[in-house]
Amino acid sequence: MADPENPNGGEKNFPSPEEMQRKLGEFLKNSFGDKVAFSTFTHPEPADSGAPEPPAAAEKPGDIFHFHYQPRDIKAHLDRFVIRQDEAKKVLAIAVCDHYNHVNHIRELASADERAAADVEYAKGNVILLGPTGVGKTYLVKHVAELIGVPFVKADATKFSETGYVGGDVEDLVRDLVAKADGDANLAQYGIIYIDEIDKIAAAGNIAGGRDVSGRGVQTTLLKLMEETEVPVRNPMDIQAQLQGAFDFQRRGGKGKGRKDTINTRHILFIVSGAFQRLRDQVARRLRQSTIGFNADGRGVIDDTAAILREAETRDFIEYGFEPEFIGRLPVRVVCEELSSDDLYEILQKSEGSIIRQYERAFRAYGIEAAFTDGALRVLAERAAGEKTGARGLVTVTERLLRDAKYELPGMGVDRLAIGEEFVADPAAAIRTALAAGHGRRAQDLANDAHRFAARFSQTHGLSIRFDDEAARRLAARAEAEDAPMRDLCERLFKDYQFGLKLVQKNTGQGEFVLTGAAVENPDRFVSELVVASYQGQAAPGATPAHDGA
Ligand code: ADP
Repeated sequence: MADPENPNGGEKNFPSPEEMQRKLGEFLKNSFGDKVAFSTFTHPEPADSGAPEPPAAAEKPGDIFHFHYQPRDIKAHLDRFVIRQDEAKKVLAIAVCDHYNHVNHIRELASADERAAADVEYAKGNVILLGPTGVGKTYLVKHVAELIGVPFVKADATKFSETGYVGGDVEDLVRDLVAKADGDANLAQYGIIYIDEIDKIAAAGNIAGGRDVSGRGVQTTLLKLMEETEVPVRNPMDIQAQLQGAFDFQRRGGKGKGRKDTINTRHILFIVSGAFQRLRDQVARRLRQSTIGFNADGRGVIDDTAAILREAETRDFIEYGFEPEFIGRLPVRVVCEELSSDDLYEILQKSEGSIIRQYERAFRAYGIEAAFTDGALRVLAERAAGEKTGARGLVTVTERLLRDAKYELPGMGVDRLAIGEEFVADPAAAIRTALAAGHGRRAQDLANDAHRFAARFSQTHGLSIRFDDEAARRLAARAEAEDAPMRDLCERLFKDYQFGLKLVQKNTGQGEFVLTGAAVENPDRFVSELVVASYQGQAAPGATPAHDGA
């Protein structure tokens, strides 16, 4: 096996692709003798041209990302989706603009002078979002990332502290950014990493050497990432990723050129968040104890979580259990507010991402136009507020309300569903009403199909037949019971009818026939009686062209 030049040799703490390739070869030889070998195959085109690369290693040339927004644009975009949280919208918009304008600047500088770009001092505006669950923290970040076109990943900080293998997990976030950027490792370097439940990795109180060592450990690793570090594109602890690396290396015929091995975290924006319940209590205590400000007239403030969290200072975060360096890397702080039932109503009604739009689409897929009234939205908002999970409660209560309707109504001829106060008060009754209306409509549709069959038959055979109301009703009932298309049913029941009817026409001159309920009941007997009667020179009942209007 060839041992190609090794551009990465010895620099990494994990095997290089070529080492991996060699080891695999030895392993296969030891296990299976000479029958199986790890051979170096070369793909026809990629070998020399360096063309088709696996996406995970692609380094795309040119300007992949150019930022051109102003804080106002970002806020306006967020307003379309996120209700309230004006302060958070503004602060995020500014932080994002500062960050990516700086990125633009560095990139321009770097194109002229790499060294000068590397030397620029800059304090990254990483953000800490404080606020309860379900009030739009993730939603804000997701929409910012979408607008500006950078990849975005979210993780819970608790995930890190639970695993023994802290550093690796944290670095996986960076690799996830590459995946989110469709393998574009360059774009991933400008992504946003969002870490929720950051309050859970604070060490308990300020007790040195306490039980929260892992929390400190996670803070330290995160800190490294937030400052600047190189993260290997392939997880060094992930055998599969390393094998993939070896295979890719082999596919390129052993050439490492054009391949991106690491992702630099210098320009990744970090946003962390948490509910900070204990911090709230801690700050409230401080405010209560303080001799100035809040003691005298600040009683109201001390009951309002958002207002208290707004008072949190760096020293509070440190006392809470954050390393000073860690909290120092999160200079932008903003509080998201709890959502009232009025806010939840507004989310349902106005947000472009409202769950209501989703339900309307879901019903439309079954041909049902669902119409929510304001009254129903109010009730849903109130119920959701009771769940105490912010806007997440909206999903829960709406799902609970519409679960049965979503199951019962599709395929039952129902084409509209009014979701008003009556529905909300008694969904089962409203579903029964909708089903009854649907049944009537379905029967009518089927009757119309029967009349269409009669018209087609008449045209084809030069005779006029029509079904009376009773016949149409019976046909509809039968088609529904047999779950058969009306056309098939009629073709089966009235097969060869033209021969009998033509005979009658010949005998009596009669050209118009009304098919009654009896014809549906027993088509053969009906037509036989007509024929017999025609020979007797008398028209049988029901065979007259009378407009019975029955
Ligand atoms: P968290 O604050 O816990 O990160 P999320 O942002 O994940 O909460 O909110 C969950 C869902 O609730 C969102 O996907 C969104 O649909 C809805 N939502 C939450 N807050 C708002 C808000 N302020 N405006 C509109 N929708 C919201």
